[in-house]
Amino acid sequence: MTTSPPANPGAQPQAARQQFASDNLAGICPPALQSLLDANASGHQPAYGNDEWTQRASDMLREMFQTDCDVYFVFNGTAANSLALASMCQSYHSVLCSPVAHVETDECGGPEFFSNGSKLLVGENESPAARLGKLTPDAIEHMVTRRNDIHYPKPKVVSLTQATELGTLYSVEEVRAIAAIAKRRHLKLHMDGARFANAVAALGVHPSEITWRAGVDVLCFGGTKNGLPVGEAVVFFDRDMSQDFAWRVKQAGQLASKMRFISAPWVGMLEDDNWLRNARHANAMAQRLFRAIRELPGVQVLHEPQANAVFAQLPRRAIDSMHALGWNFYEFIAGGGCRLMCAWDTTEQTVDAFAADLATACAQAA
Ligand SMILES: *Cc1c(COP(=O)(O)O)cnc(C)c1O
Repeated sequence: MTTSPPANPGAQPQAARQQFASDNLAGICPPALQSLLDANASGHQPAYGNDEWTQRASDMLREMFQTDCDVYFVFNGTAANSLALASMCQSYHSVLCSPVAHVETDECGGPEFFSNGSKLLVGENESPAARLGKLTPDAIEHMVTRRNDIHYPKPKVVSLTQATELGTLYSVEEVRAIAAIAKRRHLKLHMDGARFANAVAALGVHPSEITWRAGVDVLCFGGTKNGLPVGEAVVFFDRDMSQDFAWRVKQAGQLASKMRFISAPWVGMLEDDNWLRNARHANAMAQRLFRAIRELPGVQVLHEPQANAVFAQLPRRAIDSMHALGWNFYEFIAGGGCRLMCAWDTTEQTVDAFAADLATACAQAA
């Protein structure tokens, strides 16, 4: 199943070619851009989130999740994760996560900094689930029970990434199983949803099913990689936990005075399920890319893509040829081969052109 991406009215004929380095290389999707323009045309508005756009975007998220959650908009995912985790931890606590978790590897110590020193504890990396970037109930149980003395940072939160850093997914059952052990061990459950939209689209579940109905306390819902100009929503399903969060956001320099320009694009994104359409399209492009390259000589796809990324080992010479041809992608993400990431606007033509170049490069490298 493929879908055609909406035309990007802002793109110039001479626009730079599409790439697979990250889904944050893409621009703003048209409905989000339209809302941004509408917000700009709506005249003077109250600052710091007291405007009608922020109210509307928050209400739309509450409707979407079918619950009375607390919503905050921040500039980026690092801040969303760091501040959400800090709000759940004292400085002597620990956060249990996967060794490839973005909070562990790509936030420059932000969660530790904003929590005044809470430590991230990473799970094992040997099991089949761990090799797919996932935490398991067993790994969590081990981290909680291996020590309980006063010298060990007290486990307080489990952090899951959905979709994971390796482009895989936690099923509803898997999230429920992790939530069950979290509850038994008195741990809170945080979800890094930088690619939450891709996960919901791929799983085909209602967004509530994979979050609060499964036991998630806080979701960092990514908008940027799904087609927003900027901004992530921190969604507290457990409203007791959001006490004082507004002060945390302000102190961290994450309170936008013209908040409406972060929140308004969410309105366009959430309307008519544009967020899901964008995610479905990105996922479909990853499937198309997977099918086009999986049997090329020397290519070893590491696992079947479940969301919008393909991870593959490529011949060294083919990687060099592709870079020389101007293709831009990462070789080192999460330690496992090349990462090819599809975005909301990745076209079939881009996928096919990449695959054709890779076929030539692999034939030459063989
Ligand atoms: C991109 C990403 C984030 C957010 O990163 P920022 O650059 O801070 O916006 C968080 N978690 C994961 C898994 C990501 O891929």
